[in-house]
Amino acid sequence: MATKRTSPRSQSLAPPTAEWTKSFQRQLLGWYRRHKRDLPWRRTSDPYRIWISEIMLQQTQVATVVPYFIRFVAAFPTVRALAEADEHDVLRQWEGLGYYRRARQLHRAARVVVDQFGGQFPRDLDCVRRLPGIGRYTAGAIVSIAFDTPAPILEANTVRVFSRLIAFRESAAASAPEQRLWQLAEAVVPRRHCGAFNSALMELGSLVCTRRAPRCQDCPVSGLCAAFRSGEQDQIPRPRRKPRTEAVNEAAVVVRRGAKLLLRRRTADERWAGLWDFLRFPMVARRGAKLQKELVEKIERHSGLLVESPSHIATFKHGVTRFRITLDCYLAESADSKRKLTAGTWKWVRPEDLERFPLSVTGRKLGRLLVESQ
Ligand code: SF4
Repeated sequence: MATKRTSPRSQSLAPPTAEWTKSFQRQLLGWYRRHKRDLPWRRTSDPYRIWISEIMLQQTQVATVVPYFIRFVAAFPTVRALAEADEHDVLRQWEGLGYYRRARQLHRAARVVVDQFGGQFPRDLDCVRRLPGIGRYTAGAIVSIAFDTPAPILEANTVRVFSRLIAFRESAAASAPEQRLWQLAEAVVPRRHCGAFNSALMELGSLVCTRRAPRCQDCPVSGLCAAFRSGEQDQIPRPRRKPRTEAVNEAAVVVRRGAKLLLRRRTADERWAGLWDFLRFPMVARRGAKLQKELVEKIERHSGLLVESPSHIATFKHGVTRFRITLDCYLAESADSKRKLTAGTWKWVRPEDLERFPLSVTGRKLGRLLVESQ
């Protein structure tokens, strides 16, 4: 009878043996004790601080997060302090870190922790998962690191480490392969030291089992790694196709009336919701009279104000998701002190008061440019 061929996929998905799992846990934890980085959120078991760090680390590099983390917990040292803060101040502390939805959800979740749990961060995995902005990965990371609860984790680093360890060739972007990797994460998480184990997995992924050129010669678990054995570590996981970028032209306009500048609070359906900004809109015309006409019309449409010819003051290039934005910045004098501003939240502020408002990165650059040029 002909034997059925086993596909590489099913071969690689055999559950790890007890012996493999034990060796993996021991070798990984031993390596972590010797090599872990000294990071501010690793000097505490306070679930509040661990939670803040986990939210900040989503889609953001460790080196970027460190100063933000230190400033944020100094400004809001407890979950109660965060719950009682104004969203304006929370966003100001978050300014520059991007993905501002994380900050707004963190703030909402702090209020839930105070209202429903008396200010004590919940220990139960399901309760943590129900908090705004917390998914399966973040909940697992918080309860394992803060309370040593054996909960699995799966994020970009661990997807890569697990995929290579078992030579898993599918993309974890699809639901079924992701589920299989979750099963593996559940199978290997130890009953004790699970917080250190989960941190070690992520540390291995960011320091050794890197996306490009993994350092297998320095890896504590290379003897257990199927991709290393088969020489496929550079092909697993399959690289994702990058989304095509799109060039966009926008204008930012500082409208000035007397000594004050106009700011507008961005609405919930906009990018950077909750932040303050100068007038900002997409542009079609690139130069000359057409450009001036479009600017004046759009300023009136967006704010209700009539302005005299705006003058160009700077150009910034920046990226937001797949958009590569050329932002031309203008200064426009409002000749019209009686007109009402259109619906929305607006403020006339002195340039020196801009520092109190949470602005986008380009808004801040523009604001500082104006103050310096005074
Ligand atoms: S041996 Fe290489 S590919 Fe395998 S886990 Fe270690 S660093 Fe990653």
